[in-house]
Amino acid sequence: MDQTKREILFLDPVCTHNIWGGSRLREEFGYPEAGSDIGECWGISAHPNGDGTVKYGALAGKKLSEVWREHRELFGDFPSERMPIMAKLIDAREDLSIQVHPDDVYAAEHENGAFGKRESWYVIDAPDGATLVAGHNATTREDLSAMIHEGRWAELIREIPVKKGDFIQIDPGTVHAIKAGILLMEMQQSSDITYRVYDYDRCAGGKRRELHVEKSIDVITVPAKPVEDSVFSALGLPANRLNELYRCEDYTVFRIEADGEMCFEQVYPFLFFSVTEGEGTVNGLPVKKGDHMILPCGYGSVCVRGRLEVIAATVGRPS
Ligand code: ZN
Repeated sequence: MDQTKREILFLDPVCTHNIWGGSRLREEFGYPEAGSDIGECWGISAHPNGDGTVKYGALAGKKLSEVWREHRELFGDFPSERMPIMAKLIDAREDLSIQVHPDDVYAAEHENGAFGKRESWYVIDAPDGATLVAGHNATTREDLSAMIHEGRWAELIREIPVKKGDFIQIDPGTVHAIKAGILLMEMQQSSDITYRVYDYDRCAGGKRRELHVEKSIDVITVPAKPVEDSVFSALGLPANRLNELYRCEDYTVFRIEADGEMCFEQVYPFLFFSVTEGEGTVNGLPVKKGDHMILPCGYGSVCVRGRLEVIAATVGRPS
C-alpha cells in the first residue's frame, strides 16, 4: 500500500451575496447558505475576499491561502506568492453589470499590485434563447468612448446566443456580462478587480453601484476579438477522458464526463477538480455535485467511478 500518497484537499467554499444572485447554489448544489441573493460560490479560492477552508485530513481547518504559503510542495513548488487561479460557480437570477477586467500589467500599476483577470466560463445551465455579452461593436477607441459617454448601449454591446455546454474565453480587455438565467462555472485568475461600465441604472440599497468609466475605456480592447475565437461547445467530447477545453498562459481548463470508470495520471503541478453534475467516487472517496477539491502535485493515478461531470483546471505553464 502506498503510505505516502498525498491527500486530496476537499474544500469548504465561500458563497457571496449579490443583487443579481439567486437561490440555486443552495437548492441545486447544496451549499448551506441562506438568502435568495446568492450570486457566487468561490469553490476553490485562496483570494482574501473568499478564502476556502480545507475540510478533512491533516490540514483540516486551514485556509487555502495558508496551505499555499506553507505547503507549496502540494502545488509543485509553483513559483507565485499567491495562488494564481480560482474556480467559482455563478448563479445569475438577473443580469450582471457590463464590465471589463484589466490585464496583469495595468492591474499591477493601478490596483496595488493585484493580478489582472482573465476568465473563462463553462455554461452548466441556460434557458432557451439565453444570451450573454462578450465583446463590443466599436471600431476605434474614440468611437468606444463616445458610445459609452452617450449611453448608446444597444449599439455598443455584442450580445451572443449561448447554451448549456458552451465554453467562453474572456481575455482581459473584453467587455462582458452574464445574463439572467445562466448558471456557470468560472475559471479565472485569482483577482477581484472589475471595472463596471454600465449597470442598467440599477439601485442597490437605494443607491447605484459605482461605475469605472475611464478605467474601462483605458483597458477595453478595440476592436474586440471575433466571437468565433472565444465561444465553442464543449459537449460531444469522448466520455471517460480528461478533455482539454482551453489552454492559455494563465490556466488550462478540462472537462470530464465520467460514465462507469475512468483513470488518469495527475501530472500537473496541481489540479482543481469541481463536480458540476452527478455523483460517484474519486479513488474510493464519495463525491457529488457541488464538491470542490484539489488533487495535489504527485498524487499519481486518479480513478473516477460513477456518473458525473467535472470541470478541472490547472495553471497554464507546465511544472
Ligand atoms: Zn468578469
